[in-house]
Amino acid sequence: MPSPDLQTVVAEIAAEMRSRPDRGEVATYIPELGRVDPNQFAIAVALRDGTLVEGGDTETFFSIQSISKVFTLTLALGLAGDRVWNRVGREPSGSPFNSIVQLEHERGIPRNPFINAGAIAITDLILNGHQPRDTLGEILRFLQFLADDDSVFIDQGVAASEERTGYNNRALANFMKGFGVIDNPVEYVLGTYFHHCAIAMTCRQLAKAGSFLAHLGRNPTTGFSVVTAERARRLNAIMLTCGHYDGSGEFAYRVGLPGKSGVGGGILATVPGKASIAVWSPGLDRWGNSHLGRLALEQLTARMGWSIFGSPLATSA
Ligand code: GLN
Repeated sequence: MPSPDLQTVVAEIAAEMRSRPDRGEVATYIPELGRVDPNQFAIAVALRDGTLVEGGDTETFFSIQSISKVFTLTLALGLAGDRVWNRVGREPSGSPFNSIVQLEHERGIPRNPFINAGAIAITDLILNGHQPRDTLGEILRFLQFLADDDSVFIDQGVAASEERTGYNNRALANFMKGFGVIDNPVEYVLGTYFHHCAIAMTCRQLAKAGSFLAHLGRNPTTGFSVVTAERARRLNAIMLTCGHYDGSGEFAYRVGLPGKSGVGGGILATVPGKASIAVWSPGLDRWGNSHLGRLALEQLTARMGWSIFGSPLATSA
């Protein structure tokens, strides 16, 4: 059987997703995100040879939010190696992304680096006594480098919006500080965290930035090594098990790829050895993951036979 034409599959998925009435709910707890038009959809697939196959609004910038946590974890591992795992675990939490309940039982050590508490602890680690501005510059330059595009930026409006309303994250950070897990001043850590979550990118840029994860840590077109093959494999493992919070099981079941979501409606997913995929649609499901983004990835993996678990599942829902 000839393999399906990716260009056709992507175009058909984009057309269907643009017109679907069930779009999920845009996040409103960060007021600035609540103003984004939910009728948008984009998908970009970056292949091994550097080709990009795209559909929808792939040049529209969106707030990557928690997808930034993949890149801050990558930086933290580069800085501290396995010492990262003294600060955060690497088990799925089974709790919502902003949950505080496990933290007391586990003495301020977050379950994994992708829930908010874990990502805040990782931000503290990369801050490492520096000024927030310098660390933010480093994170932003890392993403611009990976995307090979200097137009990746920090959306100051989104960052300010979250600074005004981030009471829950303040509670998490202070709680961890109380357990001695946070070294730097809490306000420095949160300021850095809110701003790296407010990084804005297009799907095209994000797919390119995630390429190293799909190709054993190397940018497949330039050959530049970002992380070792072993580290890339482990980043993918954590994306698979923790990348969608308490919806990670559902994502693995339906899509079957390592992926990381953000409340801006983006998802970065990797097809090891083949492709890096970015999807975006602002409406979220009940776990805070992009509703149409997940559906689009489910269709793509089923039609291309790309699930890491082998035989594609029939799409439903
Ligand atoms: N900045 C957001 C927060 O801390 C990130 C959450 C997310 O994308 N799931 O709430």
